[in-house]
Amino acid sequence: SIKGQYGKYFACYDDALRNELVKERTITDQMETALTQGQFEIYLQPKYRLRGDSLAGAEALVRWNHPEWGMQQPGSFIPLFEKNGFITSLDQFVWGSACAVMRAWDDQGLPPLNISVNVSRADLYKEDLGNTLLEIVQKHGLDVSRLPLEITESAYTDDPNQIIETVNSLKKLGFVIEMDDFGTGYSSLNMLNQMPLDVLKLDMGFMQNETAKPMNQGILRFIMELARFMGLSVVAEGVETREQLERLREIGCDYVQGYYFARPMPCGDFEQLIKKSMDPCAASWD
Ligand code: C2E
Ligand code: MG
Ligand code: MG
Ligand code: MG
Repeated sequence: SIKGQYGKYFACYDDALRNELVKERTITDQMETALTQGQFEIYLQPKYRLRGDSLAGAEALVRWNHPEWGMQQPGSFIPLFEKNGFITSLDQFVWGSACAVMRAWDDQGLPPLNISVNVSRADLYKEDLGNTLLEIVQKHGLDVSRLPLEITESAYTDDPNQIIETVNSLKKLGFVIEMDDFGTGYSSLNMLNQMPLDVLKLDMGFMQNETAKPMNQGILRFIMELARFMGLSVVAEGVETREQLERLREIGCDYVQGYYFARPMPCGDFEQLIKKSMDPCAASWD
């Protein structure tokens, strides 16, 4: 009967929901210990300068090496940490780790590459965000410009006036500000004009081809022109194919990041990549 079918449907839905809640509870119970026990780790994904094909820096992306579940991607825990507030502690760990890695590179005499970090929307409402960040970079003896801050576009529109103020204060401290996932949120040209940005980081959606999204190349051209006009540089993320790379070259995009070049990797592997990139005979990719 229909009733029976619905019963089954709801039972199933109930189970899924219950499992979800149990998983959330388990994660919440474990997160503090996981942090103190060193289960979180940063991976680095390279960014390349399109002109000159050279290694330009990295983005730090957090991973949770869970003792039972194995390596966990941020999608499975970041949304929960944003809800329960733990993201603030985790992000501070990530920022510190990124700085420690740059310190180690500098001490070895490697080129002074930057590592960008993600700043959660929840962090933006902390009174002491600027000082916390400043203390972390200074503790490692680095210039603030070495730690560019990636803030997702949708965070800017939560409370634009407050965010403009916060971002302005970070900018005054010398931080480089990147708008992450640009093109997915609802920022207006007016807001872009008021936000002290340095970099637009195009959302991966723009990498889809003309068949999937016929206007993409046209929109990209427009964004490039706008960025030039506003003095911003542009990073394309989610570059997976040579064809996408060529389209980005065509519009004069500044930096690229994506699986076509490399996946996010452990810091040790990234260090090898830097050393390889210093070899004048080695091409950055291909
Ligand atoms: P995001 O900051 O936009 O980072 C880009 C995501 O795209 C990363 O996923 C990266 O691994 C993935 N990616 C890079 N190149 C490609 C590609 O060519 N194709 C595809 N399909 N994907 C690509 P990941 O590491 O799973 O991180 C997902 C999101 O989680 C990040 O998006 C960021 O919003 C958040 N996140 C990661 N680490 C942190 C962190 O330490 N703090 C905070 N607050 N958020 C983080
Ligand atoms: Mg991933
Ligand atoms: Mg990012
Ligand atoms: Mg992004």
